Amino acid sequence: MKTIKFSCLLSLISLGLLFSCKTVSQWEGQGPIQIIETTDQPITFQTKQKFEAGEGVYFSNELEGARLNGVKRINDTLIQVTILPENQPINPSPWYGFKLWSKESNEFWIQFTYGGIGFHRYFPKFSRDGVNFVNVDSTDFFLPETDERRPELGFLKVRSSPDSLWIAAQDRMGTAHVQQWKEDLLQKEFVSKITIGKSKEGRTLEVLKIGEADDKEMLMVISMQHPPELTGFLAMQAFIEELVKDSPQARKFRRKYNLYVMPQMNPDGVANGHWRHNLGGIDLNRDWVNFNQPETKALSDFMDNKVKETGGKFVFAADFHSTWEDIFYTNNEELEGNFPGLIPKVIKKSSKRIPDYVPNIRPNEGNQRSVTSNSYFFFVHQAESMTFEVGDNTPREIIQMKGQYLAEELMKILNKKKWN
Ligand SMILES: [Zn+2]
Repeated sequence: MKTIKFSCLLSLISLGLLFSCKTVSQWEGQGPIQIIETTDQPITFQTKQKFEAGEGVYFSNELEGARLNGVKRINDTLIQVTILPENQPINPSPWYGFKLWSKESNEFWIQFTYGGIGFHRYFPKFSRDGVNFVNVDSTDFFLPETDERRPELGFLKVRSSPDSLWIAAQDRMGTAHVQQWKEDLLQKEFVSKITIGKSKEGRTLEVLKIGEADDKEMLMVISMQHPPELTGFLAMQAFIEELVKDSPQARKFRRKYNLYVMPQMNPDGVANGHWRHNLGGIDLNRDWVNFNQPETKALSDFMDNKVKETGGKFVFAADFHSTWEDIFYTNNEELEGNFPGLIPKVIKKSSKRIPDYVPNIRPNEGNQRSVTSNSYFFFVHQAESMTFEVGDNTPREIIQMKGQYLAEELMKILNKKKWN
């Protein structure tokens, strides 16, 4: 059980609030997957606007990736912000993002509220330029004690000025950083771009191809089915960056294998600041049986066609996510795909290189196909597959190490493998 401690603050008194602070127990992992309807559900768009909070303080959600649904002044030193989901039912993990400024320099508290639907999940980050974000000072943020396992409110002290201050749940907002990373990769001669479809809001759905092989043995990597899950994206990034290096290992790998990567499965969700769903109001990671949504449909068609056209096969697949702590969800080890034992071996070998780290591996106990990407990869393509959940607050250097070591150990094993 992972715990996060929040220190008590004298500043509480200034809020006139009687909450005390405590150690908050955190959620331990995902329960059984339920098959749910994945045809379009209505979503509520947030009204993009400037919010007046009184005393010369303003908030805005008029930027890509923002989420802010309401602003209300409670007293001289406290402003309540309301953050609502795109639709319900939904996993209660709210993304938030907005900017604020004031006519004169000012200091006040923001109270995060989630309409009784969500719990405060993300430790706030701030930015003075909208691009470079850092964690707020731990003494400026606290979660009050509640009877629930997780608190529904969060309190953040801010210092405003006429210059904009950005506040967000993770340290990147919007889709631009992903586009930039893809452009950087495309500078390499062995990387190319394949358009596989369009999202509801007209965004291009793209897969990058990495490698110079013949498509007989292929790999698939995806991330950000769930918009706020930046740490999963960062681990995926570190993983891919190892495979595109100019090292003997990586060069050999790219001669032998082609890897396809879709770094941002849900660009509409990210652009609209969604908590979890796409513009069809659906959790994409529940749509890998029915394929009702453009994103899952496009990627599964791409993979199915690839196999048909080339007669090749997918030997490995990974889907990167984020949650409270680092967890590997793997398939039932008694079931055999295209390279039995590959995933446990790669996880164990890469984890051993990190001092004092025992990986949390959760093999699926069932042997039936389910609605997730991991299950589609394994049951439809027999690709050895895993979902890697990365902790929201896992230190960035650890995320980097894990992504890199996974790629290195994977390449070592795959480079040695002789295929018929
Ligand atoms: Zn996720």
